[in-house]
Amino acid sequence: MIPPIARRFVAGEHEATALEHARRLDERSVGTILNLLGEHYDERPPADADADTYCRLIDDVAATDLRACVSIKPSQIGLDVSEAAFRENLARITERAAAADVFVWLDMEDHTTTDATLDAFEAETRAHDGGVGVCVQANLERTAADVERLAPLPGKVRLVKGAYDEPAAIAYQGRERVDQAYRDRLATMFREFDAGIAVGSHDPAMIELARDLHAEHGTAFEIQMLMGVREDAQTDLADAYDVWQYVPYGSKWLSYFYRRVAERRANLTFALRAIVN
Ligand code: FAD
Repeated sequence: MIPPIARRFVAGEHEATALEHARRLDERSVGTILNLLGEHYDERPPADADADTYCRLIDDVAATDLRACVSIKPSQIGLDVSEAAFRENLARITERAAAADVFVWLDMEDHTTTDATLDAFEAETRAHDGGVGVCVQANLERTAADVERLAPLPGKVRLVKGAYDEPAAIAYQGRERVDQAYRDRLATMFREFDAGIAVGSHDPAMIELARDLHAEHGTAFEIQMLMGVREDAQTDLADAYDVWQYVPYGSKWLSYFYRRVAERRANLTFALRAIVN
C-alpha cells in the first residue's frame, strides 16, 4: 500500500490505477508516459518478467483511446545482467509496440550505461523507423557529441538536466553550469533536429527558451514533466503545447519517491512534516 505522502509522485501499485490517472490527465489534455517502477535487476528472471509486463501494458494501452506511451529503464529489462539480455528484451517490447502503435521511451541511467542505451536506441529506432525515444542528460559532457549523433536518426530525444551524481571528470557540476549546458544542448537540438524534441524539465527558464527556439527555428517540440511536480503549469501549458506527464506506478515505489524528495528541500520539509504529524 502506497502511503498518502508518496501518492503525489506515484500513480498507484497497479496498472489499473495508473490508467485511471491517465484518463484524468487526458481530460486535462496532458498525455501520459507510463513507467512501471523497477531497476537494477542483476538476474534475468525479474528483467524478463518486467519486459513481459511492458508487453501486456502496451497491448492494454493500445486497447484504450488514451494518448499514452511507456518509458523504460534499461537496467529494469536486463542491462545489469548483460547487454544481450537488455537488447533481447527491448527488441521484444519495441516489436510489440510497433504493432500496437504505442511509443516507447528509454530512460537514461548513470553514465556507465550511456553507450549501451544509445546503441540500443539507435538499433531499434532504425529497425522501426521511429516509434522509439531516448533520454540524454545535459550534465554529462559527452552529451554534446551524443546530440550530434542522434540528430539524423528517426525517433525522439528527451533532454533532461540529469538525475544522477556523476564524477567531476565527466560531468558539469553545480546548478548554473548544468543549466548552461541544458541551454546549449537545447539550442543545438532546435537547430539540427527536424522533429522529435522533448523538453524534460520543470524549469520555467528552459520552457521559455524552448518557446523562443521554436519561434526561431520552427521545429516542433513537446514538454514532459513528472507526476506531482508543477501540475498546474502542466495543465496551463497544455492549452498551447504538447504536454506529457511521466507517471510511475508499481510496488517498487520507495526509491523513486526518495529521489523526488531528495531533489528539492521543499519536498523534504513536506515529507518530514507528514511523518512527524
Ligand atoms: P530544476 O532546476 O531541478 O527544477 C526547476 C524547478 O522545477 C524547481 O525550482 C521546482 O520548482 C520544480 N521542481 C523540480 N524538481 C522538483 C521536485 N522533485 N519536486 C517539486 N518541484 C520540483 N533524469 C535522468 O537522469 N534520466 C532520465 O531518464 C530522466 N527522465 C526524466 C523524465 C521526465 C519527464 C522528467 C521531467 C525528468 C526526468 N529526469 C531524468 C530527471 C531530470 O534529470 C531532473 O533531475 C529533474 O527533472 C529536475 O530538473 P529540472 O529540469 O526540472 O530543473
